[in-house]
Amino acid sequence: MLPPRKRIVTIDGPSGGGKSTVSRALAAKLHFTYLDTGAMYRAVAHQCRKQGMTAEESPRLAELLASLQMELLPPLPGGDDVRVVVNGVEIGPELRTPEMGMLASQFSALPMVRATLTRLQQEIGEGGRIVAEGRDTGTVVFPDAAWKFFLDASAEIRAQRRAAQLRRKGESVDEQALLAQIIKRDKDDRERSLAPLRAAADAIVLDSTETPADAVVERMHAHILATSCCREE
Ligand code: C5P
Repeated sequence: MLPPRKRIVTIDGPSGGGKSTVSRALAAKLHFTYLDTGAMYRAVAHQCRKQGMTAEESPRLAELLASLQMELLPPLPGGDDVRVVVNGVEIGPELRTPEMGMLASQFSALPMVRATLTRLQQEIGEGGRIVAEGRDTGTVVFPDAAWKFFLDASAEIRAQRRAAQLRRKGESVDEQALLAQIIKRDKDDRERSLAPLRAAADAIVLDSTETPADAVVERMHAHILATSCCREE
């Protein structure tokens, strides 16, 4: 029998693979809290850009991270995205742009940034009952999570889905440019030396290229129910 583990679900994978939709729906089904770790990296990148910093370690970055107060709020009614308040100010829709995703990817490779956010995420997950989504939640942040998934999909379908998502928000989209960005961001995330994007050895790998999000959620949910007797702490 497996040793007891924390009542935490981790869902890692490349950008646009449907992680957010699936994580939100699974959290609602389980009555767990949804933890969007990507939003935290985006928020740090946003703060750094506001201060005119480039993605390198510096005493100024250390200072910014040491005084960082970050709060995650549920989406507004009718909205999808977790909101982020940094040092008392809510970040606007620019948090979710593809450009902020690219910038977040650059800052997320810095050890100082990862150490700060990993600690914060672990504090949030202390009591369990969370569904965490990101790149390293199953490998680094919550290695003792009871249920780990890695959600993949082809780059083309991920670009199409991200484009549809942005269009729903009223933004104009260049799908080819988006595909190129997605490929670059995933490559950087997979190849960085610290907490690279990869499936944990004990993660279940699912591919959402041809499977709708609700079917993916059902599979995860069924697996969690079937194994919860021996996995929970
Ligand atoms: O998931 P999202 O697209 O919002 O993430 C933005 C970027 O933040 C990712 O491309 C990745 O570089 C970084 N990230 C990370 N570790 C996480 C979550 C996100 O490095 N756990």
